[in-house]
Amino acid sequence: MLAGALESERVSHAYLFHGPEGTGKRAMAISFAAALLCKEREAGRACASCNSCERVRKLVHPDVHFLFPAPGDTNEDVFAERLQILGANPYETTDFERKPVLNSSGRASGKRVIYSVEHIHKNVHRALGFTAVEGGYRIVILSDADRLMVQAANALLKILEEPRPRTVLILTTEQPDQLLSTIRSRCQGIRFDRLTDDEIVTALEKRNDIDAASAAIYARMADGSFSRALDLAVSSDLIELRSNVVAFLRMAYACKAPEVVNYAEELQRLSREQLRFFYRLLLLWLRDLLLQKILGDTARILNVDQADAIRKFVANLPHANIESMIEAVEEAHRLVDRNINSKLGLMVLATTLSSAMRGEKSSPLVTSLSASM
Ligand SMILES: [Zn+2]
Repeated sequence: MLAGALESERVSHAYLFHGPEGTGKRAMAISFAAALLCKEREAGRACASCNSCERVRKLVHPDVHFLFPAPGDTNEDVFAERLQILGANPYETTDFERKPVLNSSGRASGKRVIYSVEHIHKNVHRALGFTAVEGGYRIVILSDADRLMVQAANALLKILEEPRPRTVLILTTEQPDQLLSTIRSRCQGIRFDRLTDDEIVTALEKRNDIDAASAAIYARMADGSFSRALDLAVSSDLIELRSNVVAFLRMAYACKAPEVVNYAEELQRLSREQLRFFYRLLLLWLRDLLLQKILGDTARILNVDQADAIRKFVANLPHANIESMIEAVEEAHRLVDRNINSKLGLMVLATTLSSAMRGEKSSPLVTSLSASM
């Protein structure tokens, strides 16, 4: 659609790319900017290799301005650092909301991540007010546009009401309904849908050189978001955590209290995010057990490299009630957010799983957890 607009010279002054996180809104905005400025454009698409394309991709082109909402006291160096990362990989998580501190999964500073009216005046007015440095389009990409404060939104509205020739403003957002309707109505909306697991797997394999088996697991957990899949792939040691999952199940089955306590203590050291990841891996493992049990070797299991272990597990535990095991883990996963002592949670879970693996009836996790407190 965007290529068609370029071909027919019917480019809008403003676009609103909206859709869930990790579906390529920013990457598409950068790619469209490249196409707008490319000297070797073909069929409305950027050549991706000329000097102009190269500079747009790296976000160093003087006529392309990429903006993030940010805490009020953010200085230029901090913006520059994030732009550089985004220029290297347009799918990287670089916004201040999800990554308050780079290279860390640290929690937000509590400062509000916004566009102030000064930010809009300084960056949008200035960028679109002058003539283009290189004589083509001038483009502003305003990511997470739902973070416009009222005054900033009004300042932006003025620009949208009187667009200069050969200027393009691209807004991106996950929450279009948070924007002023007067802004929405002046933009051409383009919706971005969640990606399929297959699309994510292909992208992880091609772009990030991740093996198919791991890619399938990340894709499954990413819920249609490529950037989340990428975050998982970069930040977690999947293989190590998964071996913890298997060890945890074995230990739960063996039901040796001291070992379970030791293990729970070890896992207690995981961050909340890692613990969540651990539980999700455990769920995927149980899902595979269930599939294997029902469908036998025709099952399309996710942990493909562990097919043997899964087969043995199912064969050795003919009475296991896998559905109740899944319920217990889902409950434990939910409890992570409720500040339940993680060691206690793991110990109760181990007990519940142990009975379920033997096909014994067990009380739901919450009941046993509150009974043990
Ligand atoms: Zn080009």
